Amino acid sequence: MTGALSKHHKFGRVKEKYNRIPNAKERAFHLYLIDNELCVCGCGRKAECVHHPLQRHPEQRWRRDHEFVVPMADECHRSLHGSGNERSWVDGRGIGHLPLLAAGYRVQGIYAGIL
Ligand SMILES: [Zn+2]
Ligand SMILES: [Zn+2]
Repeated sequence: MTGALSKHHKFGRVKEKYNRIPNAKERAFHLYLIDNELCVCGCGRKAECVHHPLQRHPEQRWRRDHEFVVPMADECHRSLHGSGNERSWVDGRGIGHLPLLAAGYRVQGIYAGIL
């Protein structure tokens, strides 16, 4: 009983495994994507925000890694989250695999000297 309690207590004190807030480099990368990219969905609109794909890329450290994002128009971003299912939203548009696309944008950020 004490074991279970202390285990639970310990779990409650575990630190976040990712930073909720993007650091300066990550913020610069997000702004770079917003300034230079179109929405990942193919709608042709200018990116206005970034989305953190829910599925992970193998190189991704944490589930919410600020280096693994895709640029999106606000309306498409709201539509994706509103759908409740990222994979089917993406499949319905024939975009490709979001974690893979995010990895591609990350490489772009590295080549641009931002990440
Ligand atoms: Zn779009
Ligand atoms: Zn999102």
